[in-house]
Amino acid sequence: MRCPFCAASDTKVIDTRLASEGSAIRRRRACQTCSERFTTFEIAELVYPRVIKGDGSREPFHEEKLRHGFQISLEKRPVDSEAIEAAIDRIKRRLHGLGEREVSARQLGEWAMAELRQLDEVAYIRFASVYLHFQDINAFRDEIEQLQKEGIRGRVTGNKKGPNDSGR
Ligand SMILES: [Zn+2]
Repeated sequence: MRCPFCAASDTKVIDTRLASEGSAIRRRRACQTCSERFTTFEIAELVYPRVIKGDGSREPFHEEKLRHGFQISLEKRPVDSEAIEAAIDRIKRRLHGLGEREVSARQLGEWAMAELRQLDEVAYIRFASVYLHFQDINAFRDEIEQLQKEGIRGRVTGNKKGPNDSGR
């Protein structure tokens, strides 16, 4: 791996660890010539199933489109980007796990909804209101009622500890 700073070809791996829940390898490298450090990522290149849209047409799976849907739903919500990436990774693994050449947009949407529901209920409702709008308004109402039954509670995403009274 050529150094991005001085273009020397003599760089050394100083640290290797798993990233994205094990689906990527992150390597920290140091240039032997200029001593600059940089990071590289290694991911397996896989082919995703094509997405069958509601009108029957097919399109390639676009990870960016999925991420965009998450980001819009999660705008100004207290969810960190690592949690979002982990959710997207899980959906990608499910796509591969299908072992199919094609997947319905509906299935993708349901997976996204399930992930958002775990991440943040407000984001989940935002996504569901857009996603289900085109299909069935009653299904959306049922979802809201179901959530109300369960009690919409603000999920604590960080590790919030109570008052730390280490009285010594
Ligand atoms: Zn260098």
